[in-house]
Amino acid sequence: MAITLLQQADTVPRGGAPLIDRYGRHITYLRVSVTDRCDFRCTYCMAEDMQFLPKRDILSFEEIDTIVAAFVARGVKKVRLTGGEPLVRRDIMALVDTIGAHLGAGLDELTLTTNGSQLRRFAGHLAQAGIKRLNVSLDTLDPQRFADITRRGRMADVLAGIEAADAAGLKIKINMVAMRGVNEDEIEPMIRWAHGRGYGLTLIEGMPLGEVGIDRVDTYLPLKQLREDLRRRFTLEPTDHRTGGPARYDRVAETGGLIGFITPMSHNFCESCNRVRLTATGQLYLCLGQEDMVDLRVALREGGAEALDAALDRAMAIKPKGHDFVLDRTHAGPALQRHMNVTGG
Ligand code: SAM
Ligand code: SF4
Repeated sequence: MAITLLQQADTVPRGGAPLIDRYGRHITYLRVSVTDRCDFRCTYCMAEDMQFLPKRDILSFEEIDTIVAAFVARGVKKVRLTGGEPLVRRDIMALVDTIGAHLGAGLDELTLTTNGSQLRRFAGHLAQAGIKRLNVSLDTLDPQRFADITRRGRMADVLAGIEAADAAGLKIKINMVAMRGVNEDEIEPMIRWAHGRGYGLTLIEGMPLGEVGIDRVDTYLPLKQLREDLRRRFTLEPTDHRTGGPARYDRVAETGGLIGFITPMSHNFCESCNRVRLTATGQLYLCLGQEDMVDLRVALREGGAEALDAALDRAMAIKPKGHDFVLDRTHAGPALQRHMNVTGG
């Protein structure tokens, strides 16, 4: 009995002080970009000739797990793996298994955001590792449009991946970046398609992150207005459903499904922010739309576990109040040079 207790004490993270920033927000959600690389080049996310980070700078799985464990010990309950495309990192299932081992030992939820291209291969393993739900990005149901938006992707692979995930018992939410003149005519079909299969749907406003070689002002579609338009065709019942994220959800009476709206541009949701984001090279960004960060890789490599823990306290002291994305109609460039695949969407 004594041995069992001792073993438990070793494996269960020691509780440190909760992570509370200077505005009183509890940080309980860590997003981890496991790679900045991707097999797609979505027009709103990356430039065609995207330069990726040198492989030698990327955190090892062991380092990622040490950082995740430090966060879990300080009260983080939810971890999302993202990227880039998380499922293209070599041996990614080993990391999923390692982080999955924190479930029930401080961590409540492990989840993933994916473009779905590799999902057919990995869905079963993800479910076995304790993942219960996934976000899959899908901006269109038209194969040609899909090829145009992703520049590289095949829609059939993604649809097969979604089906495999569904069959493995994973709950699916579709993420769709709503773009004027690109896919706004597909929002209603997407609602019917997703809800008809029992999937949630979240619409996202395009954000000005990183130079991508296209003008995002032209395609910007304010979701507040879109929601008003949808109300003419559907009965939208506001819900208090929350997934710990910035999305606000309505139930669509006609389909019974949920539709979420992520509106960073037209509505600032920062006052309830509960998250921080780790890049593949170990920088902890404290806001998607600001430059403030602490370098956890340096802390860990130079000072070990203690320095890492101290860096988390430094992070809480500098987490900014919020982003200040504004859509500048006279200047179509990005608000921030950092691309979404680096910070982790
Ligand atoms: N590759 C995975 C995927 O596409 O789901 C995970 C990473 S991706 C950066 C995460 C999410 O960010 C996707 O749903 C994508 O559509 C969204 N995204 C990328 N760039 C964006 C931008 N500039 N504005 C809004 N959403 C963006
Ligand atoms: Fe890749 Fe996701 Fe960015 Fe598309 S949105 S290029 S799939 S990281």
